[in-house]
Amino acid sequence: MEKYDVAIIGGGAAGLSCALTLSSAKGKFPWAENRKYFVLDNDSSDLIKAMLNNVPAVPKGTLGRDLLKQLKEQVEDYGITDIKQERVIKIEGEKGNFVIHTENGKQYKADYVVLATGFHEFNIEGLDVEVVPNPKAPRPGKIMIKSDEFNKVKDGLYVAGLLAGVYTMFASAAGSGVETACAIMSEWAGKNVVIHDVPDPK
Ligand SMILES: Cc1cc2nc3c(=O)[nH]c(=O)nc-3n(C[C@H](O)[C@H](O)[C@H](O)COP(=O)(O)OP(=O)(O)OC[C@H]3O[C@@H](n4cnc5c(N)ncnc54)[C@H](O)[C@@H]3O)c2cc1C
Repeated sequence: MEKYDVAIIGGGAAGLSCALTLSSAKGKFPWAENRKYFVLDNDSSDLIKAMLNNVPAVPKGTLGRDLLKQLKEQVEDYGITDIKQERVIKIEGEKGNFVIHTENGKQYKADYVVLATGFHEFNIEGLDVEVVPNPKAPRPGKIMIKSDEFNKVKDGLYVAGLLAGVYTMFASAAGSGVETACAIMSEWAGKNVVIHDVPDPK
């Protein structure tokens, strides 16, 4: 069974943005070398129903599904993140030794887990997390998981996107995924980390 450094559950705005930021550290720091990431998603992102006119720097009228496809390609372009279409039903273990079980009976291992499954429901078994009403949801009945200011739920377990309690806007959810990636990388580096690129001077 292949072991991933980070398994991200949910490949919507937040999960893919988290994977993109993690992947973009490749080649920039010694602690980022030989890392492998994993996104497990069951293809029901809210973006699939959306047409986007107000996402910063995204052309007006872009379909949410097209944006998701583009984001997936951007992540895969780094060559260090596997993206699979599977529903996660159970997660066991702790930091350094999480085991993720899917509906198809498959199991995957990861050192860290990021939960980015949106705010409609949370029905993954095996994790001791506190699911509470989401105070920023436009309608009642939506949920989030309690975490600290770094989106950390407990050692090795993070949350991102609407499940972390941000407003239901693409930029907020994507930004939350980026925040979670930076928090995990900062743990690895032992200091605050962001990934910034500059144009080639040549
Ligand atoms: C109709 C509609 C229109 C919208 N229009 C706009 C707009 O114009 N502008 C704007 O900024 N925002 C818009 N949004 C909001 C935007 O789509 C959300 O803010 C954003 O998608 C939230 O990102 P997320 O990653 O938290 O959740 P999602 O994008 O919903 O991603 C969650 C992912 O988790 C996966 N998942 C859930 N459970 C599991 C599981 N057990 N195993 C594996 N995968 C799982 C789902 O398949 C999904 O892909 C709109 C939303 C809707 C519904």
